[in-house]
Amino acid sequence: MFTMRVHAVRAAFAPRATIFSKTTRTNATSAAGGAAGARAPSTGRGGRGGRGGRGGRGRSDDQVMPRQRRNFTDAQLENLARLRGMIDANGESERFRVVVVSRGKANMFLDGNPIVYAGAIEKVIGNVKTNDFVCVTDHALAPICLGMYNSTSAYAVRVTEMAWEHEGVMSVGDVVRRRIREAFELRRDLGLTTGDSSSTTCYRLVNSEGDRLSGLNADVYGDVVVCSSTAAWIESERVNVCRGIADVLGANTKVVWRRDAKMYEAEGTPVVGDFMSCYDAATGEATAIPGEVRVFENGVQYAIDIEHGHKTGFYVDQRENRMAIRDLSRGKKVLDVCCYTGGFALNAAVGGATSVVAVDSSDAALRVAARNAELNNVQDKINFVRADAFDFMQEAIDRGESGTYDVVVLDPPKFAPNKQSLTKALPKYVGLNKRAMALLRPGGVLITCSCSGAVTQDDLMPKIIENAARAVGKTATIATKKSAGGDQPIDPCYEFGEYLTVLTARVR
Ligand code: SAH
Repeated sequence: MFTMRVHAVRAAFAPRATIFSKTTRTNATSAAGGAAGARAPSTGRGGRGGRGGRGGRGRSDDQVMPRQRRNFTDAQLENLARLRGMIDANGESERFRVVVVSRGKANMFLDGNPIVYAGAIEKVIGNVKTNDFVCVTDHALAPICLGMYNSTSAYAVRVTEMAWEHEGVMSVGDVVRRRIREAFELRRDLGLTTGDSSSTTCYRLVNSEGDRLSGLNADVYGDVVVCSSTAAWIESERVNVCRGIADVLGANTKVVWRRDAKMYEAEGTPVVGDFMSCYDAATGEATAIPGEVRVFENGVQYAIDIEHGHKTGFYVDQRENRMAIRDLSRGKKVLDVCCYTGGFALNAAVGGATSVVAVDSSDAALRVAARNAELNNVQDKINFVRADAFDFMQEAIDRGESGTYDVVVLDPPKFAPNKQSLTKALPKYVGLNKRAMALLRPGGVLITCSCSGAVTQDDLMPKIIENAARAVGKTATIATKKSAGGDQPIDPCYEFGEYLTVLTARVR
């Protein structure tokens, strides 16, 4: 049993710190200089006037600052000391190997970055292999976090726990199951497992880094959960992911498992065998992949083609935005560009649109969309068209249909997968938006989306709108800025998690 006394623990973690009582500020060492755990807030320099502390302009930990120092509880300090003891005992523990980050790089990970990049690692101690459980330390061997190692990937450690959280009693599998339970409880508490106006049976259960399970997305479609795995460690924990899902959704749940070929290659574990398989959640035994499943989202029914659909089969991220178009569409003529299986078009029709035109380049998506229209008895209101988005809108303009739509939705695919591709992507966004604006009547509403993380919500997306409006001699005002729903939580330490932008603009 762990018996080290707390003041001794503090001393062990703050060798150059002035120790006061538990609630007193400590005068900590430089961020990377001392042990990584010993990061109590420094006194005196928090406020802008240089006279912080209690009498100054505010405590340093009340400020919004990057890499803020952290107060630990006694229990957290004990966790840190226990880990440190295990590392000191023999340089590596039986439970984990040790990965040391370079001097000066520790700061990047102390606040909970969910991934430790290969470039930040100075050395590994001992023989560390892919999918080994590791403790990441600073250059002085002070523990920072724990996670799963990958010797090939640029994502060298997928963090499962911060060092101060590690109570030493849970296996990686237990952590996975706990994370899935926490993820489920968040959705349940936010009311996202049941929907707003009527029944909802689909939502995102696990959102990768946002749920502290880097490399795993899981979408619930009734009693089927589609998991999209992009990481070697997630593959190695598949049975525990299935069990975690059975814990929260019941033993009868089926888990469809999709392996991302490109990412598995980059992770050094290329897919051998099937890219997609299906398991019984409780037992982990293989079972047949369901062909089509049916779900409800806010009362609208959808068929989902699990095997051939995009991503996990359905874009759960647009749930709130699809709901929002209903009121907007009453008595209106609506155009849904890049409609996939009909999400916005169906909601516009259900909301009372007089007519809806829905365009997509994919035959397979449109077949499902047509079935969805029938399932909701709105087939007479929606005209589905297979066409390229740019061509369709340009031809409509050329036919003299400018100014004839009340509402246009643009939900194109990811044109900019990274910042480097922005140069090519931005003209595409402007090109689509200007055509959509031309088709809108004066005072019409544009709902325009980007799922490229590089197209920032507060900067680039408004610029796209401004440029598009100028190009067609109109003006646009932005009424709402939205993103994915609460079932896609974001880790503030991980900027790439935020990708979806949905702006509603009035165009004149
Ligand atoms: N709004 C949809 C999701 C759209 S996903 C929903 O609520 O479910 C993006 C869609 O764009 C995909 O269906 C894809 O087939 C389509 N797409 C991609 N490139 C296209 C193009 N050049 N023209 C038309 N559609 C395109």
